[in-house]
Amino acid sequence: MWRATVLTLFPKMFPGPLGESLAGRALASGIWALEARDIRDSATDRHRSVDDTPAGGGPGMVLRADVLARAIDEAAITPDRPRLLMSPRGKPLTQARVAELAAGPGPLIVCGRFEGVDQRVIAARALEEVSIGDYVLSGGEIAAMALIDACVRLLPGVMGQAGSGVEESFSDGLLEYPQYTRPQIFEDRAIPDVLISGDHAKVAAWRQAEAEALTRERRPDLWRQRQAAPPAKTDD
Ligand code: SAH
Repeated sequence: MWRATVLTLFPKMFPGPLGESLAGRALASGIWALEARDIRDSATDRHRSVDDTPAGGGPGMVLRADVLARAIDEAAITPDRPRLLMSPRGKPLTQARVAELAAGPGPLIVCGRFEGVDQRVIAARALEEVSIGDYVLSGGEIAAMALIDACVRLLPGVMGQAGSGVEESFSDGLLEYPQYTRPQIFEDRAIPDVLISGDHAKVAAWRQAEAEALTRERRPDLWRQRQAAPPAKTDD
């Protein structure tokens, strides 16, 4: 079973939104498992302290290397599982990395708080730093939930319609084409004729063209990447 082990100072935040809808149903039906472990349980002093002031001075507090290392060790995960640290300094998370993580046994995820974590534990426990975007959250929990949610929806049996993960934004290096549903006329706006033509080839061509135009316009970075390394054509 795919498993996420989360190390956090706020275990009560979990499952939170992961307990609802798609991910929540999959959790309840045993397609994946979630273990939220309290980092504070690995503190050893009388005050159960987990943080201290930054060496060299400056604002805020830093998560202690010894406490965090012990929390990681006490989680006793198998060595095949990725060990991630949510961090704004990390490599930006991509759909490709999400797919890799979903295909594996499931990660251990460390959630930082305060000013971050002592650099030595990142090195000593070989943590892979992962960012969910160029902005700063107050803690790693929401970032961890975003990562887990993205993985869980790719697990076999989670999404209703097989293949509904294949055509989405990023999966082929393109943003997704626009979607429409009933009513056919909404405030004088009609669904594009081609989508109600019943001509599947035309629909596919229209969607491809829309996806390409959107990507060119909104994400020139993705578009350039795709021009440099066009995705292999698959017949399925
Ligand atoms: N002082 C740090 C920010 C700490 S924010 C810096 O400037 O880099 C506190 C914690 O929130 C981090 O340790 C990390 O776990 C989490 N976090 C904040 N922004 C994040 C992001 N964009 N992606 C992933 N985790 C993030």
